[in-house]
Amino acid sequence: MLEVRNPATGAVIAALAADTADTIAAKVQAARQAQPAWAALPLAERKARLAALGEGLKASLEELAATLTSEVGKPLQQSRNELNGTLARLAFFLEHVDAAVAPETVLSEAGLEERITQEPLGVIANISAWNYPIFVGSNVYFPALMTGSAVLYKPSEYATLTGLAIQKLAVAAGIPAEVFPVIVGGGDVGQLLLEQPLDGFFFTGSYGTGKHINQQVAGHLPKVQLELGGKDPAYVTDDVADPAAVAAGLADGAFYNAGQSCCAVERIYVHTRVYDAFVDAFLKEVAAFKVGDPTAEGTYIGPLTRRAQLDVLDDQVADAVARGATLRAGGKRIEGPGAFYAPTVLTEVDHSMKVMRDESFGPIIGIQRVQDDAEAARLMNDTAYGLTAAVYSATRDRAEAILRDVRTGTAYWNCCDRVSPRLPWSGRGHSGVGLTLSHYGIKAFLHPRAWHLRG
Ligand code: NDP
Repeated sequence: MLEVRNPATGAVIAALAADTADTIAAKVQAARQAQPAWAALPLAERKARLAALGEGLKASLEELAATLTSEVGKPLQQSRNELNGTLARLAFFLEHVDAAVAPETVLSEAGLEERITQEPLGVIANISAWNYPIFVGSNVYFPALMTGSAVLYKPSEYATLTGLAIQKLAVAAGIPAEVFPVIVGGGDVGQLLLEQPLDGFFFTGSYGTGKHINQQVAGHLPKVQLELGGKDPAYVTDDVADPAAVAAGLADGAFYNAGQSCCAVERIYVHTRVYDAFVDAFLKEVAAFKVGDPTAEGTYIGPLTRRAQLDVLDDQVADAVARGATLRAGGKRIEGPGAFYAPTVLTEVDHSMKVMRDESFGPIIGIQRVQDDAEAARLMNDTAYGLTAAVYSATRDRAEAILRDVRTGTAYWNCCDRVSPRLPWSGRGHSGVGLTLSHYGIKAFLHPRAWHLRG
């Protein structure tokens, strides 16, 4: 049995029957049987059904947002934002899938044609995180279903009600339940899924679990994609025109969704010439955040989805302060039944501290003074992760020169914590392998087949 709790109140809001080894095996078998017929439908037909799912999402937006907020605790407006963003991603995939699956003739001469066709991967697993459950799940199931694969969707145990609601809409839109089954349960149930000889495993979550999955499934050589965590840095140079505006943008990048974003700004470096002005403005922004009931309009920071993360944040604050950091805001839990943590700002930090090295995944940020661009670039690269990095500067050339040497999948100039359906989403190092989104993120679900045709 899987109990679902509301992290804002601690109350149990649902109890669901979890999958077992037997039910998972039955779902895999049903998916294997149903997938060829799904793949045989004309692309236009699969697209029409995915588009109908989009209509269903749009029509149920308020209800889905309420469900999402009730189980992950993100403020209602941020749940709505996630759903609206998901519709934009679906529109991108619908527009670009035809080009991605189009066959190519790469050589045509007397007696010989060389041709490439695209085939679906087959039956794949989508093991997904809870922080943006609809975004990270649909980055996989939209293009995979559209191109003819079947997807066993394992939402995080913290976002199962949302996963089930979306699957219900998918079935109502004409997507067979057998090609898009939900696997219900926690990490132990995810583990059972790894024992199935599937054609692909697409995972979003932590480095530790990603590495484990990679090792576990390696034996039967499936396609594996891992979208993992980050310790994303931002650097504010000394030529920014308006440090207060930069502070507002970076405070949002660090604290949106209570900092529980893979691409949240997790550490900030500021050139010594603008450091004081930046920190003052940043603290004002943070003091203005409305923290509390995620269903109340205007709330910006809700509870943490996973109560256990409160211990990680307490530990990072204690470690930083013990090593000489100054606590400028927050630094403690907010009393009550919910898993709330006060938005926290630490200055006088350095890389001996966990808060500057380990993923925080919560409403906490360290701000470090630097002397020049070279020091900033060195510190930005001082991590095993490599998801995103941001540079704020009046000069694009200066920002690009710094970012060229920082090893990440995504580079931001004068922006942060941003994902576009048109651009590939990928990580380096401990941030993962493979990618989603963009036209590459459609091809990720296709197997190109080579044809040598003589005659
Ligand atoms: P976890 O690694 O704890 O879990 C991710 C998924 O894996 C969940 O569905 C989880 O199930 C499942 N799982 C856990 N153990 C196993 C196992 N042994 N076998 C198979 N599946 C298992 O990550 P979180 O849910 O805590 O997500 C947060 C992490 O995700 C952060 O590190 C964040 O940075 C990263 N992330 C990365 C993104 C990116 O695009 N790069 C986007 C979003 C998040 P259950 O939850 O039920 O235990």
